[in-house]
Amino acid sequence: MPGKVYITGVGPGDYKLITLKAIECISRADVIVYDRLVGGRILGFARSDAELVYVGKMPDNHAVPQDGINDILVHKALENKTVARVKGGDPFVFGRGGEEAEALRENGIEFEIVPGITSAIAVPAYAGIPVTHRDFCSALHIITGHERPDKDGSQVNYRELAGLHGTLVFLMGVKSLPEICSSLIRYGKDCKTPAAVIEKGTTREQRKITGVLDDIAFKASEAGVKSPAVTVIGDVVSVNEKLDWFPKGKLAGKRIVVTRAREQASKLVERIEELGGEAVEFPVIRIEKPDDYGHFDSVLENVAEYGWIVFTSVNGVKAFFDRMRNNSIDIRALYGVKLAAVGEVTADELGRLGLKVDLMPDKFTTDALLEVFPEAAGDGGKVLLARADIAVRELSDGLKAKGYEVDDLTVYKTVVDMPLKEEMLEMLEAGRIDYITFTSSSTVRNLVSILGTENIDKIMGTKVVCIGPVTARTAEECGLGAVAVADRHTIDGLVEKLIGG
Ligand code: SAH
Repeated sequence: MPGKVYITGVGPGDYKLITLKAIECISRADVIVYDRLVGGRILGFARSDAELVYVGKMPDNHAVPQDGINDILVHKALENKTVARVKGGDPFVFGRGGEEAEALRENGIEFEIVPGITSAIAVPAYAGIPVTHRDFCSALHIITGHERPDKDGSQVNYRELAGLHGTLVFLMGVKSLPEICSSLIRYGKDCKTPAAVIEKGTTREQRKITGVLDDIAFKASEAGVKSPAVTVIGDVVSVNEKLDWFPKGKLAGKRIVVTRAREQASKLVERIEELGGEAVEFPVIRIEKPDDYGHFDSVLENVAEYGWIVFTSVNGVKAFFDRMRNNSIDIRALYGVKLAAVGEVTADELGRLGLKVDLMPDKFTTDALLEVFPEAAGDGGKVLLARADIAVRELSDGLKAKGYEVDDLTVYKTVVDMPLKEEMLEMLEAGRIDYITFTSSSTVRNLVSILGTENIDKIMGTKVVCIGPVTARTAEECGLGAVAVADRHTIDGLVEKLIGG
């Protein structure tokens, strides 16, 4: 049985405008074939083992020609894979979804269409422009601006368009905007008709430029508007100021790289978005199960023997208690065992399980933990260090120096994840990233190793903000420039540093 293809629209930019059905398709798919305007947050819905195929088109050069995309869809389906063909906006509004569906039908492959919220309507809405309004118009026309009006054989009839009374919405029209406007005026449209161009609508980088038909092209070019942008021409534009609503936060317009694990609920991403910034998640680390549970299981069997368990991360807490549950070990087996957490979020995660930590340093660093950790009593004592496979040795060594017997247990494995590398490099090089944040030394090392040391100079111009001094030291050692350190070594502290600039 060949697989099925879901031709799925995911909305115009704000990832929360995705539909439940689209999330379902993406999170089940074996293969995701996606375009340029599909953001990282959307790809975050994919299974961590899904194959990601980028067929994005740049405004001038089609990365993969349409026939090639059709072939990929057909072939992946013939390999019995479930495919999500993910497109910005709605797949059937200038999305070439129709052609892809035809190719699938011709090859006998089953498909479903998942409509999406189109930029033609949602982008004006985020700019305070209702595309229809009883006082102004009774029709809406969505037109491609891709075909230059002066081109021979253009299928868009500007003489007809100029005579229409409805709202005109042009997609893909940034380059041709001067010709679009002058053609409409030439065929008799009132040159004082209100007009707006909205760039990167529904995202935190949204810009709105308003004017009238005979000056909007000039104003847009003065402002340096680039694709993607929607142009709205019609009387409805006149209410845009009155209905302006899209809030701007303290990080508005800022694009910030967050290097965290994909599975980890990311408080940092949430905070950045609440403040109006755009978080670009670079999933450098993926959390996986340890290779072997032998050591882990024997530790759990005898967990009451330990005087202390030290947790160094939220993932460590999750992995530890998941395994306890898996092995049907009651949480009361920990009775009498003291618990230490290196950071506040780790302590909170234990708190969620009803466990109160006995020790947490004021500063969330390894050194600070060692400072407050008591010396072992006369007969020593056993400490269990529940940690990732890549961990600094200082903690284990420091505890031994205090007289403890230390059991170093790998409770989860971190795996470096590769997708999005090209887009990330492109954005860094074009100066489209304002900050890169690091929340641990391992995120620094992984980012550098994925992007490649040969590309370090592309990162040099971007400001780096680290959660603490150890992470900052690693960033400096890796050759990253302009490294700032949060005053408080927590996610909130990191966010405060970002706001401070
Ligand atoms: N299927 C998509 C349109 C694809 S054509 C949809 O339904 O929205 C690509 C064009 O859509 C861009 O050139 C631009 O005109 C418009 N567009 C898509 N996303 C946009 C955004 N966030 N802001 C402004 N215009 C956008």
